[in-house]
Amino acid sequence: METVAPLKEIIDIIKESGGDAFKLCYQCGLCDTVCPWSRVRDFSMRKLIREATFGLTDIESEEMWRCTTCGNCPRQCPRGVKIIECGVSLRRISTEYGIFPTSVNPVRAISASLTGEGNPLSEERKKRADWAEGLSVKTFTEGTEILYFPGCYLCYDPRLKKVARDTAKILNRAGVDYGILGSKENCCGESIRKTGDEELFKRLARENIKTFIDNGVKKILVSSPHCYHTFKNEYPDFRVNFEVVHISQYLFELVSEGRLDLPQAYGKKVTYHDPCYLGRHNGVIDEPRKLLKKIQGLELIEMPDAMENSLCCGGGGGRIWMETPKGERFSDLRVEQALGAGAEVLATSCPYCISHFEESLLGLENSDAAQIKDITEIVQEAIG
Ligand code: SF4
Repeated sequence: METVAPLKEIIDIIKESGGDAFKLCYQCGLCDTVCPWSRVRDFSMRKLIREATFGLTDIESEEMWRCTTCGNCPRQCPRGVKIIECGVSLRRISTEYGIFPTSVNPVRAISASLTGEGNPLSEERKKRADWAEGLSVKTFTEGTEILYFPGCYLCYDPRLKKVARDTAKILNRAGVDYGILGSKENCCGESIRKTGDEELFKRLARENIKTFIDNGVKKILVSSPHCYHTFKNEYPDFRVNFEVVHISQYLFELVSEGRLDLPQAYGKKVTYHDPCYLGRHNGVIDEPRKLLKKIQGLELIEMPDAMENSLCCGGGGGRIWMETPKGERFSDLRVEQALGAGAEVLATSCPYCISHFEESLLGLENSDAAQIKDITEIVQEAIG
């Protein structure tokens, strides 16, 4: 079995995805100092980049699958190296060769589920709208103002369906003209793309775009920062532009415009975790906080590593589908930071973050010391 990819093929893939990005690196190592892995174990993007520059990438190694694409290191790089794109291009080599370390095997099963059913959870496509059962949620038709796109985890995951249901209740309460596409939706494709499966991403994206155009969609409301990122920044590569709004932005707008009242007091200390793909990658930092501050009695407190410096939960870059050993989970550190700050509620607005934080909280002896909530759930409680 070949363990070293030929230099020419590496260079071709790199050129497609990041130009000569690798060659720009002068090995200063600043990227490593801000990498969240530096808090739990040895890992070096600088080293990966150096190996790739000389065509020495070991495509069986676990190392190139560690990056969560959190976006912290490109902000530090004095040479403008497209570090995330470089890392993803290495994974594309693995995908093209069909050679993966054992820890990446779950991703291959995910690919099959995405291809067959349009979601990574091995769930049936026809059940994609089951979360809305019993609620007044209409099917999107041409002329409806907003498409609500909950994303795969909110459609299927038993815990996260509640977030989709609370969102629908809030939108109904505010009289928003919205609809869903249910089984016509596919996964947005953001995370599978970060695992290097460019072809599957394109297929999912093209199918979604065709569905949006065929149904006259102009404005898309999303709950997941990963859908937000890819609809806003990656789908335009297919020469389409939809207006994309994250639920935290939209709820703030509804409350600010007086379309949604929050009469119930929420007398708790709440800290807000910025999901990487909402805060750092897309600059949506103020609206979630301003929204929370509009809730009576809620005391908003900040953790260390807040806002654009937020500590990654560990779920980006396809790592939501990989096992991370105890002792190496960033989410464990984040939950400790929230408790250390005195928070009774760790709020966020991303399904990956919620899943990871809940698992981390459950692993603590004092697992009832705090709650993990999507900000939508807090708003629903404040409506009463
Ligand atoms: Fe290379 Fe940029 Fe990392 Fe420095 S910060 S080692 S230049 S990628």
